[in-house]
Amino acid sequence: MTPARYLVTSALPYANGPIHIGHVAGAYLPADIYVRYLRARGREVLYICGTDEYGTAITETARRQGRAPLEVADEYHAVIRDGFAALGISFDNFSRTSRPVHTAIAQEFFTRLHDSGALRQATSLQLYDPELQRFLADRQVRGTCYHCGHTDAAGDQCEKCGKDIDPLQLKEPRSALSGATPEPRETKHWYFPLGEWQPWLRDYIATRKGWRPHVLGFCESWFQEELRDRAVTRDLDWGIPVPLPDHEGKVLYVWFDAPIGYISSTVEWAEQQGRPDAWKEWWLDREGTKLVHFIGKDNIFFHALLFPAMCEAHGAYVIAEDVPANEFLNLEGGKFSTSRNHAVWLHEVLARWSADDLRYYLTTILPENSDGDWKWADLRERVNGELNDNLGNFVQRTIKFIGQYFEAQVPTPGEFTEDDRALLAAAGAVGEQIGGLIEAYEFKRALRTVLELSGAANAYFQHQAPWKLRREDPPRAATVLHVCAQVCAALSVVLGPFLPAAQRRLWDLLQVESLAWDAAGEPLLAAGHGLVAEPTALFAKVTEEQIEAESARLSTKTEDAPAAAAEPEEEPIPELPLVTYDQFRATQLLTATVTAAERVPKADRLLKLQLDVGGKPRQILAGVAQYYEPEALVGQTIIIVANLEPRKLRGEVSEGMLLAATDGDDVVLLTTMRPVRSGRQVS
Ligand SMILES: [Zn+2]
Repeated sequence: MTPARYLVTSALPYANGPIHIGHVAGAYLPADIYVRYLRARGREVLYICGTDEYGTAITETARRQGRAPLEVADEYHAVIRDGFAALGISFDNFSRTSRPVHTAIAQEFFTRLHDSGALRQATSLQLYDPELQRFLADRQVRGTCYHCGHTDAAGDQCEKCGKDIDPLQLKEPRSALSGATPEPRETKHWYFPLGEWQPWLRDYIATRKGWRPHVLGFCESWFQEELRDRAVTRDLDWGIPVPLPDHEGKVLYVWFDAPIGYISSTVEWAEQQGRPDAWKEWWLDREGTKLVHFIGKDNIFFHALLFPAMCEAHGAYVIAEDVPANEFLNLEGGKFSTSRNHAVWLHEVLARWSADDLRYYLTTILPENSDGDWKWADLRERVNGELNDNLGNFVQRTIKFIGQYFEAQVPTPGEFTEDDRALLAAAGAVGEQIGGLIEAYEFKRALRTVLELSGAANAYFQHQAPWKLRREDPPRAATVLHVCAQVCAALSVVLGPFLPAAQRRLWDLLQVESLAWDAAGEPLLAAGHGLVAEPTALFAKVTEEQIEAESARLSTKTEDAPAAAAEPEEEPIPELPLVTYDQFRATQLLTATVTAAERVPKADRLLKLQLDVGGKPRQILAGVAQYYEPEALVGQTIIIVANLEPRKLRGEVSEGMLLAATDGDDVVLLTTMRPVRSGRQVS
């Protein structure tokens, strides 16, 4: 059954840097194809997004650059917004979480949860700066390391010995902001008891249909691990103030306010329409609205579990019907890396490439059910071989032929042959076929179906050979070109969601204002309809030089890396004395499978990992929380030092350590090239 309206969201990009095509493949291009298709079918659709602008990463960037957090967000909001516009991502509204409308909606959300008793309060100890009269984040405290005696250790980790620090145990602590001696004080925070929502969430997910297997798999692994309470508030000055008395210096955690941005962006849209209440029909009609969140897989936890539970606790808002998360996109076989500038930045690449070429290639490699890989040479092959030689060529030769021999008018057909009817039937059915695939979020297959039709049409043109018929059997030539013109028209209709600019150009060649999707089954162009007499090419070919230039850009480490992170300096490899073979063998390295992972409260860098090592459980704490989402590690096979003496960190025992490579400001876990059972010897 068709819902009354579709509310579609793309994950809010974080305004702490530009976005790259890997992001576009995850949450934006698929959503745009989906909404363009729905609009073409005449469905009621609203497509909502905006930038996520709070949280510590932006304050850190601002501090490093000597700017205010809002200046950082201003800059990247504009860069991201303009990049999306140039790619043709057709949001109905693209807002910002730093706007007053968002503050109001997020505070109302919090207040309603608070007043209805949906939140819990808990007390913990945190260092407080008496001079500035504020709590300090771990990184805002320095002091003497209780492991090694280093006198300038940070409150979360000692830079000298590399060990994690509990700021409350730091000797001679001082505030990095004022220099004052901080004192431990009790601080109270509000928590969302997600664990209590587990039965409801299980039921919620069980009653959704057609979710991608990897999304369901992620949810199931969290259920098995059991969901825990999540702090909703924190002591920080860049965020939405907690709307309660005696809560100065406390703001909403960014994970909590960010998804509420979908609601506030809709409210802003309604205000722009001059119908301030119009947002309500989208967010308050649980029966009539189909809410679909497009996200990358790193966001599944927040959109498939947390936000639905929050909305249910709130009681009024619509809950997601579908969360078609994509997997990750790689670049030339490697991961995108902001710090090494191994990326294709959206705002830069659009200066050199047409949106059509980028959208086409990206759609062919969308990471729908497994990771995808962007390869420049592959882009050239596909754009040239498929867009130009297949689709573009068929359209071009048809319109040109009609221009030369039929006075640029769609010819009147005679009786149709079996071949004619078969191709007309295929053209007539393509709209429904592609629609079904798009509604099932199978965008790659949907685009392939467009190319299959133009491939069949090319073969038909070749087989019928109208250039011969023109002399030998002119009425038959007219019929063939009539059929080809109908296929061009059908192609122009179904091309729209994928390549909106090419659709416009094709409609100009066909001299139509627009063609309706639902009319795709009928003859779209009447006999006698005038076409452009001398068609220009629909697409342009990609040259080898263009590809070489892009490859060179990737391998040359540019100095003006647009990301906040500077190019890491080459560090000399330390020279260590030789060890004997036996000494090396004394270190037991084993494979281990991560069965569960979670953050350690009050330790920004630490993840607590539960491992399976040859059937035996083991717990390891690792300082990789800044580099990996805990969810992303579950199921991975890693390498551990198994016979390291256990040590205690933040009251938790760590039985061994894992192997990771450090590259500049990035840390990469070592894993195995092929699946290996856990507990295997590594040597
Ligand atoms: Zn130390």
